Amino acid sequence: MAFEVDTQIPHGNACDIEIREENDVAEVSFAPDPHGGPETLWFCLRVRRAGDDPAAGMLRLVLKHHYNMLGGHTPSALRPVIRYQGRAWQRLPQGDLVPLPDGRTDIAWLVRAPEAALDIAFCYPYGVEDVQTLVAETDGIWHVDTIGVSQGARPLLRLSNDYGGPGDQRPGLYVIARQHSGETPGSWVLDGFLRTMAELGSEAPLVWAVPLSNIDGVALGDYGKDNFPYDLNRAWGRPPMRHEVSVFQRDMARWQSRCRPLLGVDFHAPGACETSGVYTYVPDSDTDRAGHDAAMPWAFLTGDALTPEYAADQFARVVHYPSRWDTPSFRTYVWAQLGLPCITFETPYAMAGTQVLTQADYREIGRRIGQGIVAGIK
Ligand SMILES: [Zn+2]
Repeated sequence: MAFEVDTQIPHGNACDIEIREENDVAEVSFAPDPHGGPETLWFCLRVRRAGDDPAAGMLRLVLKHHYNMLGGHTPSALRPVIRYQGRAWQRLPQGDLVPLPDGRTDIAWLVRAPEAALDIAFCYPYGVEDVQTLVAETDGIWHVDTIGVSQGARPLLRLSNDYGGPGDQRPGLYVIARQHSGETPGSWVLDGFLRTMAELGSEAPLVWAVPLSNIDGVALGDYGKDNFPYDLNRAWGRPPMRHEVSVFQRDMARWQSRCRPLLGVDFHAPGACETSGVYTYVPDSDTDRAGHDAAMPWAFLTGDALTPEYAADQFARVVHYPSRWDTPSFRTYVWAQLGLPCITFETPYAMAGTQVLTQADYREIGRRIGQGIVAGIK
């Protein structure tokens, strides 16, 4: 075979891998690996040219079991990204639907075969190196501190533009991303958000941000949504059900005492089929009127900032999907335990309406969310 597949790479995830060659076309088929969780979505793999076999000119990438991915039943919304070795990531167009005899389908993309290696992922990956790039490109604004470790003993990084101090009155935000580790659009949005806060300098609020909260899942390529033993964003009870959350809760208490705490912000991505644009989750006005009323002004401001290019028509939503976990989230913890509003942003993996999203779009979404929030600080 002229090609081999490697999943032992950062964020690596793929299973059910088959490699075939026919004439001048090689074919690599694969599926996302649940990694022990109940849902699949994230995948990331490297196709490498092996040995001195005659070179195939084209490579057919075949995604299997897309119908089993969370929201994977809408093939037109699935637009993976690829990167030839040493080059930038690029978005694939809509794939070809390949019918199977029993009614199932695969999705296939025909690309130029790599001279050395080609990575394919469900969406643009974002990891520790990207955080380091952000820090390096923002004029030393961000302190980077390890506030604890994950349950897998990986460092948990927290960025801050100001440590504040006891009794300080600078308005403060506590920001988190990647509680569901495969939701990389949330990271690119946070990246743009933090770059904007850096540009604002002393005009910015005090920001403490945990960019890679489920760092074990980020490193290992877990999707991390509803995963076992405990979804990070359902582990926010007291006592918390994951070590990471106990680290964050202590850090948030520290944050709260060193600024004028204003707002919690949590960046996510929705199911794979979502294409209507960015939206937020706010508390249900029927069951939590005060929480709803506290969050809505921030939803209005950020929704306005994202309109018309990026905001979904129905921007402020209430969670109505059936959840496996009925336990506290970051958002409910911020409101119920800290008495502060919190807003959650869901940014689609590939599309906002007909617009195909790039890393630059995600950063622009983060910039606008930052501007919307700053406009609301009194
Ligand atoms: Zn999520």
